[in-house]
Amino acid sequence: MDKFCFGVDLGGTTVKIGLFSVEGNLQDKWEIPTRTENNGAEILSDIAALIQNKMTEGHLSKEQVTGIGIGVPGPVLNENLVQGCVNLGWGHVRVADELSALTGLKVKAANDANVAALGEQWQGGGKGFQNLVMFTLGTGVGGGIIQDGRIISGANGAAGEIGHMVIADADEVVGTCGCGHRGCLEQVASATGIVKLAEKRMAESSQESVLRTISPLTAKDVLDAAKAGDALAAGVAENMMQYLGKAAAYIACVVNPDIFVIGGGVSRAGEYLIEGIGRYYREFAFHASAETKFALASLGNDAGMIGAAGMVCNL
Ligand code: ZN
Repeated sequence: MDKFCFGVDLGGTTVKIGLFSVEGNLQDKWEIPTRTENNGAEILSDIAALIQNKMTEGHLSKEQVTGIGIGVPGPVLNENLVQGCVNLGWGHVRVADELSALTGLKVKAANDANVAALGEQWQGGGKGFQNLVMFTLGTGVGGGIIQDGRIISGANGAAGEIGHMVIADADEVVGTCGCGHRGCLEQVASATGIVKLAEKRMAESSQESVLRTISPLTAKDVLDAAKAGDALAAGVAENMMQYLGKAAAYIACVVNPDIFVIGGGVSRAGEYLIEGIGRYYREFAFHASAETKFALASLGNDAGMIGAAGMVCNL
């Protein structure tokens, strides 16, 4: 009997649901809107209804489905409990218990950045390695830690929140991080942070730069200009890569992964970024872990859905 599992990526605007073989091959996928009205009261029943319809259509019995994995945009305790998620309108929600009651299937929930890391470890840029740390460089900086093929979520569901490691001096960054601190990794390595730092450097000097002709400025503009040899842009990029390399070196002293996987929109800067972060990493790393690999994420926006399935593929 072939066995299958569902992976659900629950976002603030859409829910992506994939049906996978337990080996990780995507069979089919669907998207539905996330109904956040009414404090998100319909979200889990919408997901359950879609899954039940697709099981009926595909003549899948409950015995053939190992379970449902779901990634949620907030901290998740014990693969179940969300204690408030602004994007969904949720207060306390026992996600796994409720979805399991609705479907009669086993359910595991985890933070969306953490399941994306598991996806990259299972089927993506970190495939073949059991111990991985992922950096997601987007509007913010997220992360995930995988040890022995499992998500580390920690006492408060906050393990892997590497974007809020306070790593830079307060006067090096612009403003305050969304978390309330100053100097978070997110403030120097997110798309937003890169633009703010480039604008700060332009305001503080009269150095010529192609960035002065671009409006509105994006992180991609800064990294493209850096690659093309623009000195001001390269300064911002080197600063970012230095902090990412240093953060990776700190993390390696704690969990010593086989590989760091870099994803998110900023990672489209590609090998330039991998080379730069790796160069600074080796400068700061403890000698025994100095050869840790760095790779680009390869699953794009499907990483969360794939990793969610990966949580339940062998139940
Ligand atoms: Zn922060």
